[in-house]
Amino acid sequence: MTGPPVQPIVDLDHAATTRVRPAVREAMAPFLDERYGNPSGSHRLAREAVRAVDEARERVAAALGCAPAEVVFTSGGTESDNHAISGGMPPRPGVPVCTAVEHHAVLDPVRALDGVVVAVDRSGRVDLDALGAALEGAGGHVSVVSVMLANNETGVITDLDAVAAVVRAHEPEVPRVPLHTDAVQAAAWLDLADQAAAADLVSVSGHKLGGPKGIGALIVRQHTPIRPLVMGGGQEHGRRSGTSNVVGIVGLAAALDATVADRVATNERIAALRDRLVEGLLATVTGTVETAVLDGDRSAVLPGICHLCIEGVDAESLLFLLEAEGVAASAASSCASGAQQSSHVLEAMGVDPLVARGSLRLSLGWDSTAADVDAALAAVPRAVERVRAFG
Ligand code: PLP
Repeated sequence: MTGPPVQPIVDLDHAATTRVRPAVREAMAPFLDERYGNPSGSHRLAREAVRAVDEARERVAAALGCAPAEVVFTSGGTESDNHAISGGMPPRPGVPVCTAVEHHAVLDPVRALDGVVVAVDRSGRVDLDALGAALEGAGGHVSVVSVMLANNETGVITDLDAVAAVVRAHEPEVPRVPLHTDAVQAAAWLDLADQAAAADLVSVSGHKLGGPKGIGALIVRQHTPIRPLVMGGGQEHGRRSGTSNVVGIVGLAAALDATVADRVATNERIAALRDRLVEGLLATVTGTVETAVLDGDRSAVLPGICHLCIEGVDAESLLFLLEAEGVAASAASSCASGAQQSSHVLEAMGVDPLVARGSLRLSLGWDSTAADVDAALAAVPRAVERVRAFG
């Protein structure tokens, strides 16, 4: 295919999606070609596909700290979240409970099921007293509690053990209330075997960690009540029907393997780049605050996320000018049309709407470089100046 040369882009929007890692592409290639079998069959091609899916399931389980039988492959984070909240078809009895800063893939099904949305504090962490009160208010009829492990806008990390302690303290002995965590953003950075261990249901997605789009997983720990959401051929041990996305499943396993293998080094490298980016912008752009970081302590924020609010600019104009400079960034999460929506996350954190108007999320990923940070350190002050001049 020919066309105008594609301008290189400085990608500072890794929280939206990531480039497929070379090792993932390599692992997937045979399954787009000669190993194209459908595992629901009995001949050699099918048996090869079964073997590939079984092996991938074992590797995903090892990376996420669960048993292979607890892994349900899905079409991505949205489906995993929807399945966890509803519990399948028909939905689990009782009222779902989640926090006000969840992704819409959690918030929307909770609202559709007349659930309860719990407040967060100024840093974006769930208010544990409000969570306790919501559990008491529901009088033992809670179907699921959902608290994300790390927020997709601010990068703020939740202490899930503390959340689990509140849930366990408020539930009646039987039945145990399932605790779900949306770990879609966290999985690229945190050791879920440890930090999501308290959750009965865990959502992950391939494309946030160097894997392909359209594949994810829901961990369903043993004894957690779940019915199928997608029904039909009975794949995934009857928990998620539909012909297995073999190439995607292989890609997800390879992406998790690569993420786990270089996590320590990548986190250290990216956190240092992120800190240089934040500190550089705080020093050069007047009227800038770090949204969810109090006292400069970024230890409880994902290494790849820099979230700022910049006085006297509106995010849409800023993003437009940054794009003209070749920098891809984001403000709140983008909706399906690509337009920016005002942020329910910042609103829930009590950020003044006038301040939230100038929100900017610069997110780094596994392939981010010092040159990306240099480009942003040059482009953002210029773009802010221009927005303010025309403001
Ligand atoms: N949950 C969080 C926290 C996310 O950031 C996203 C994607 O932006 C999703 C869920 C949805 O995942 P997917 O794009 O795989 O459907």
